Amino acid sequence: MQQYIAPQFEDKPLALELQKRNQMTMSFDRMPFLQLNLILNKNMKQSTVPSSRFDVLVIGGGLAGQTAALNLAETKSVLLVCKKDLITSASSRAQGGISAVFMEPDSHEKHLEDTLIAGDRLNDIEASRFIIENSRQAVDWLIERGVPFTKKDGTYHLTREGGHSERRILHVDDLTGKAVQDTLSAQIQRHPHITVLEHHTAVELLLAEDDARACAGALLIDREGSQKEILADFTVLATGGAGQIFLHATAPCASTGDGIALAWNIGCRVANLEFLQFHPTCMYYPQGEPFLITEAVRGEGGLLRLPNGHRFMPDYDPRAELAPRDIVARAIYTEMKKHGIPAVHLDFSHRPPAFIRDHFPNIYRQCLERGIDITRAPIPVTPASHYTCGGVVTDVHGRTDIARLYCVGEAACTGFHGANRLASNSLLECVVVSQAAAKDILKQPHTTPVRAHVPQTHPLRCLTQQERNAIALAKGELRRLMWDYVGIVRDFASLEAASRRIRLLDEETTQLYARTLPETELIELRNLLTTAKLVVRCAQSRQESRGCHFNLDCPHTNPDPVPTILTPTQPCVETRHSSQELQCC
Ligand SMILES: Cc1cc2nc3c(=O)[nH]c(=O)nc-3n(C[C@H](O)[C@H](O)[C@H](O)COP(=O)(O)OP(=O)(O)OC[C@H]3O[C@@H](n4cnc5c(N)ncnc54)[C@H](O)[C@@H]3O)c2cc1C
Repeated sequence: MQQYIAPQFEDKPLALELQKRNQMTMSFDRMPFLQLNLILNKNMKQSTVPSSRFDVLVIGGGLAGQTAALNLAETKSVLLVCKKDLITSASSRAQGGISAVFMEPDSHEKHLEDTLIAGDRLNDIEASRFIIENSRQAVDWLIERGVPFTKKDGTYHLTREGGHSERRILHVDDLTGKAVQDTLSAQIQRHPHITVLEHHTAVELLLAEDDARACAGALLIDREGSQKEILADFTVLATGGAGQIFLHATAPCASTGDGIALAWNIGCRVANLEFLQFHPTCMYYPQGEPFLITEAVRGEGGLLRLPNGHRFMPDYDPRAELAPRDIVARAIYTEMKKHGIPAVHLDFSHRPPAFIRDHFPNIYRQCLERGIDITRAPIPVTPASHYTCGGVVTDVHGRTDIARLYCVGEAACTGFHGANRLASNSLLECVVVSQAAAKDILKQPHTTPVRAHVPQTHPLRCLTQQERNAIALAKGELRRLMWDYVGIVRDFASLEAASRRIRLLDEETTQLYARTLPETELIELRNLLTTAKLVVRCAQSRQESRGCHFNLDCPHTNPDPVPTILTPTQPCVETRHSSQELQCC
């Protein structure tokens, strides 16, 4: 197995800084939200560190987190936290649907083979088999919960998407994710054993005092920066992907790789982060939220042109606009770079207006709201990062390298997606692995974790407005440089250039984080930088092109598919405990 060992010096500042940061979390009590006030000094913010205990802390309110919470809540007290509201997630944006082997002539073997082809055979076969074999019961569970999957003639309508050899996608029209999230969120909100904290950010994971490799919960902040320490017997990370490390992303702004960074920081391995799937056509709309233009538009005759009208896809592939997703994305990216343009045009205006309005009512309406009548004018489009195939190394029960810490959904890497994800397999993985994680947790003996504690030695101050502006600029700079140097087409020189720049930004951010009270924007920047660093390391260590990783310096594919696994050599876990300052509150 290919293994990349992170150099020690790179992880040390983060470890030290987290050790200092840890000092802020003063105490806890077994009573819910006991208020403990820490007065720093009169120029500094009064920091309140309320503390409480739950059986399970679920970090993330997308499909993975919601599935885990609902499967645990019958017998456990669950706290579910999310950075935005319960509805804002990549899960809510899923349009196509969820794959499942539902009826003959489909079979598990066919679904497995399609998944392996899409994943360029880098997939973990046992994990893939487990997830596929559980697909039917996963959708049955969603149906029992009340998800109104679209029916035709009294039976569930199954669509077929690119890469699937059979019809196996259950959907709710073209708004599957929203329907699933709406259904589950309503049940979460009225469940007597589930407490929901919206607009709260997990800042870092807490370690148990009695076990250097066990998780004891997490430190949270709310929108005002007030801190809460949550102690939990088990913690489930369900924080989604890292799409926002790139300038263009289809995922929501909360997708900043937080779970990947938090888990890495306490000693979890991560894998396959070089495999970031890009969707070829996202509307270019710098004034606001971009949105995805489905591939069906090209299927129905949409043509890709440069702003001067030249149709460029025939120059790249005989199938032109109908070439596979990664070829189209690479072609658009190459043209944008060659001509220094922010977008190309997807032209549909040669089709009859009534046809466009009938077939693509949602796209027609969304574009019109953004000032473009697609019956007359082309849509400016750019590729955008769409799915993080890699993540925190887990098994199919969501178990990580740290005891009592689970990771599920897009933040995790079970090996199911290999080097590229098959459409509609990610919602499936969210449900199956979260259910399995919940089952695993329910089997474990009850524990009462006591969190490792380091006494505070120096006070922290609030961020200044100037520093907040600098954070926003640094975020933009990182996303731009990842897009330019680590985007759809890579080479070793650009990866090295990215690595150098990320290191500089990381040093500045680490210093700032060590001095100031946490705020979500700063936490996100820190996590984006950590994840970006890990993506670059994974990409640098792969000496081939495979799946959605394309390196101009080695365009070939090696005969043996090998995952990339990064192991933190100096996880904070060790630094905290070697400090000899640990105390139980
Ligand atoms: C536009 C679009 C269309 C898609 N279409 C499909 C499709 O048709 N079929 C399919 O299978 N897949 C699809 N996908 C992929 C799929 O939606 C995602 O992979 C999946 O929903 C991820 O679910 P999740 O629960 O892991 O993460 P998410 O749904 O992204 O949820 C993450 C949650 O974690 C919270 N969070 C993040 N960081 C923190 C933190 N530090 N503290 C607290 N909370 C935090 C967020 O607020 C959010 O609640 C699509 C993705 C996109 C973007």
